[in-house]
Amino acid sequence: MTMPYREPLVALDPAPRTIPEPPRKGEPGGGPCRICAGTAVEPVWSDGLWTLHPPRQCSLRGTVWLASREHVDSFADLSSAALAAFGSIAARVERAVLSLGDIGRVHVLRWGDGGAHFHVWFMPRPLGMIEASGPYLPIWADALPNIDDAGLRAAAEQVAARLSADG
Ligand SMILES: [Zn+2]
Repeated sequence: MTMPYREPLVALDPAPRTIPEPPRKGEPGGGPCRICAGTAVEPVWSDGLWTLHPPRQCSLRGTVWLASREHVDSFADLSSAALAAFGSIAARVERAVLSLGDIGRVHVLRWGDGGAHFHVWFMPRPLGMIEASGPYLPIWADALPNIDDAGLRAAAEQVAARLSADG
């Protein structure tokens, strides 16, 4: 595993902490939730519990994010129905992303620092790109040139078609 940058990298000291932390979108004072307001990127698939979305400005074809229908923050806040369904929908999305081919592994990431509405990223590591294994994949994803948004949406629509067929 390597960083997508030449050595020597210089370690930074952490900045002074910001406490309380600034509000996120969908929290009081943080502005409206884009998912609930319908201003997030349009989903390519949905059911009664989940919506599946392509990313914008992303370098990894097949990346998608899954959001809950309900506006809750994290796993700890999901309804029992969503919690019970999460394992099977995560597996279906993983299978659907893998079906695009040329993918070594699909990483599942839940950050939650940008918005307060539950969403999980499915990020495919290109087959054979061993240097981008594990936590290095998002760093490589940031450094690689982006695919245009139409291309990202087209790949997500293929994922959605497979997801529906696997339903
Ligand atoms: Zn929301």
